[in-house]
Amino acid sequence: MSNIDTSNPYILLTPGPLSTSPTVREAMLKDWCTWDDDYNLGVVTPIREGLTKLASSIAPEKFTTVLMQGSGTFSVESMLGSVVPDDGKLLVLANGVYGNRLAQIAEYAGINHIVHDTGELAGPDLDRLSQTLQDDTEITHVVVVHNETTTGMMNPLEEIAKIVKGAGKIFLLDSMSAFGGVPLDMEELKIDYLVSSANKCIQGVPGFGFIIARISELEKTQGIARSLSMDLYAQWRGMEDGSGKWRFTSPTHVTRAFYQAMLELDEEGGVAARYARYTENQKRLVEGMERLGYKCVLPKENHSPIITGFINPENPDYEFKKFYNLLKEEGFVIYPGKVTGIDSFRIGTIGHVFPEDIDRLIIAVEKSMYWA
Ligand SMILES: *Cc1c(COP(=O)(O)O)cnc(C)c1O
Repeated sequence: MSNIDTSNPYILLTPGPLSTSPTVREAMLKDWCTWDDDYNLGVVTPIREGLTKLASSIAPEKFTTVLMQGSGTFSVESMLGSVVPDDGKLLVLANGVYGNRLAQIAEYAGINHIVHDTGELAGPDLDRLSQTLQDDTEITHVVVVHNETTTGMMNPLEEIAKIVKGAGKIFLLDSMSAFGGVPLDMEELKIDYLVSSANKCIQGVPGFGFIIARISELEKTQGIARSLSMDLYAQWRGMEDGSGKWRFTSPTHVTRAFYQAMLELDEEGGVAARYARYTENQKRLVEGMERLGYKCVLPKENHSPIITGFINPENPDYEFKKFYNLLKEEGFVIYPGKVTGIDSFRIGTIGHVFPEDIDRLIIAVEKSMYWA
């Protein structure tokens, strides 16, 4: 299978928004009433139930899913601002742009917090994490990014979860760019809150995010929120009591498209099958790029199937923007780099993108190497 799509001049090898299937986009061609059962019972409720089951197959009854308007960051902000109380303290593990954003959100919201920043090229310091949780008994919550999209680094979730839950802390996860594309079970890892969005591995279009919460914890958070529109507890009660009703205008078309994307995830064979496809995409990408002489930013053991950083060629004639434009003409949009001090670019391998597309990409990259 391949995404040769006549309705789009190029495919997006960017980790969100990403390329969606034509059928997901077609699902947006109808108007919906936000207050009507057709939408709330027929679209929103099955999405909430489906996401909860994706998050934990062993104990879905312990979790609930709350949909939140806005881009992914709005949902992260909703989560952090709604669950850490004024007398709580948050430990942020940061190793990239998105980890730093967690700290920035805490700063804006006036949440008491500390940051362990290990830089963009290293994972979290697990010994320091253990020690800090022992020494600083004020800490109540710990948050980390699952796949740090800055570099494509997959953080060691199981090890972190073991330490955080071993210390009895509430564990929050920004799994924005991994959820739905990387297998995980919130109950098995004892994760309390997880956040992701419509336009990442579930392969919907952008417009909302979601927070999957352990009900026994969420129940304790009434009145904590620092924002009205992003009050997680209130949004949850609204959806529960109103059988899928969002408190304020919801992105109806986007939600309907997401429903279609969930069906297509299931048809593909679920998260395990999608993970296998993304993994094959990324394997072919790295093999092909290395064959053409490119070097990866991260060592292979830190790679994820989501996105991969490559070092820009050192040739004086090379210019990223020119390379980018040539590739775009060939039908592929890639992503600039974000790592400080390393001149790099990134290529995403998630979305409605198949191993054959990656093979076509490698041919296009070779063709676009105007400096070589
Ligand atoms: C995409 C992403 C976000 C959210 O970004 P938005 O631009 O607000 O959608 C947050 N965290 C990670 C790790 C991401 O990849």
